[in-house]
Amino acid sequence: MMETIAHKTARALKILKLLENEYPDAGCHLDYEDPFQLLISTLLAAQCTDERVNMVMVPLYKEYKTPGDFLKLTQPELEDKLRSINFYRNKSKSVLACCRSLVDEHNGRVPNTMDELVKLAGVGRKTANVVLGNCFGEPAIMADTHLNRVSQRLGLTDSDKPEKIEMDLKKIIPDSKQVKYSHVIGQHGRSICKAKKPMCDECVVCKLCPSCGKFEK
Ligand code: SF4
Repeated sequence: MMETIAHKTARALKILKLLENEYPDAGCHLDYEDPFQLLISTLLAAQCTDERVNMVMVPLYKEYKTPGDFLKLTQPELEDKLRSINFYRNKSKSVLACCRSLVDEHNGRVPNTMDELVKLAGVGRKTANVVLGNCFGEPAIMADTHLNRVSQRLGLTDSDKPEKIEMDLKKIIPDSKQVKYSHVIGQHGRSICKAKKPMCDECVVCKLCPSCGKFEK
């Protein structure tokens, strides 16, 4: 029998409670001091590790604090500073275009709505959700690779498209729990429900997971 939304919500909340106990400190892995820094670091973290982005950006933000500061750099100058980040050329272009939109359309401030954020150059729903959830206290499903994979395995979505996954989860997870869900599920994906070999034997939500044990040979 198909599981109803109400049953999925009840199961998801049980999962959430267990994982909150497991990962009481789960949160954003990018270091940031304000919405601007998180916005830029999230753009840079696509197909790169958060650790690498932190290593490069934390020192850089001490010198370049605002979109206007970044716009003083030419693209080759910024590329030189971001050289150790994957796809640094395209990302430098996106960062400068985003800073230009912030200065021209928002007086250098990061807007706090999805509609405005996704209109910024280079910003999609995933990046917008990271900023909305972490900086502005808005309900937000941060559909990164870990959240997508674990949510599929938990049977909370049957899609592999990030936008559809976000919409499926928004129907199931109450607004007040969406940021927490994103953080603990992301952490669970990094620690236990790994991409190649999920460690179902050690998983505290095994009894609530339809995929438990299905990956063993
Ligand atoms: S039981 Fe296995 S597949 Fe399910 S969440 Fe845990 S580690 Fe992932």
